[in-house]
Amino acid sequence: MIRVAVFGAGGRMGSTVCQAVADAPDLELVAAVDPMHEGTTLEQLGVAGSGLSVLLGATDLRGIDIDVAVDFTHAEAARRNLRWCGMSGVHAVVGTTGLSSDDMADLSGLFIPGRCNAVVAPNFAIGAVLMMRLAELAAPHFESVEIIELHHDAKVDAPSGTALLTAERIAAASPSWGEDPTKKVALEGARGGLGPGGIRVHSVRLRGLVAHQEVLFGTTGQSLSIRHDSYDRTSFMPGVLLAVRQVASRPGLTVGLDALLGI
Ligand code: NAP
Repeated sequence: MIRVAVFGAGGRMGSTVCQAVADAPDLELVAAVDPMHEGTTLEQLGVAGSGLSVLLGATDLRGIDIDVAVDFTHAEAARRNLRWCGMSGVHAVVGTTGLSSDDMADLSGLFIPGRCNAVVAPNFAIGAVLMMRLAELAAPHFESVEIIELHHDAKVDAPSGTALLTAERIAAASPSWGEDPTKKVALEGARGGLGPGGIRVHSVRLRGLVAHQEVLFGTTGQSLSIRHDSYDRTSFMPGVLLAVRQVASRPGLTVGLDALLGI
């Protein structure tokens, strides 16, 4: 049994992770942390079958035997929680976004082979990870590429981190892309934003959507579309559980799920 704690247990992702861990036969949910929900039972948060109440902070975890802590909070909280994990020798699986390259450097100092490890992934949807890898493979064979990301109407940032990372990886896989033919723009922004490598990224925000992305490649007489759709938060759970199961055997800091998927 892998003993798992969840930071951000009262949040949208955190409560979904609590349920996924509670339902997995080889995992045991041993603690749930969320300052907003301290004292609330997980049952009251819609998570069945754990019998746990939510704790205030990382210091309340002292004395609980934990193998892996999962963090889906926000960047500022995650920095504190991960410091606690690193100092306490607890492996970490991190989905929280907004961590900077400085934060990542700090994490590689905290999660040291032989002490404890961390897997940090900006996107735990296995289909999205494959979409990025497939886009990277396709890139050298095409002259044009554009990315369209589509999200729900409550998303406050644009473009998505996944779209930017996809553009970065495509640009690294193939540096030369055809010139934009546009000479006249009648509507500002019509050609999207200029991402890494000059790759155009278009952001759609629409009620009813969840998280979707399409990468469009073009060359003479043909095009290739690679599309991924997340329909709800459960789409992230196979990736989160994969990381929980593998983190102990991945020395130090691992960024992204590619290595865990063997791609
Ligand atoms: P959310 O609903 O706001 O949940 C975050 C929860 O963490 C809130 O309940 C928050 O409480 C709590 N929290 C704040 N400080 C904490 C602390 N020190 N310790 C423990 N819990 C704390 O947000 P969400 O939609 O679940 O998203 C959470 C994070 O996951 C975001 O960074 C999001 O971008 C990311 N995300 C990643 C993936 C991926 O695949 N990697 C997928 C989806 C989302 P308060 O409300 O009091 O702040």
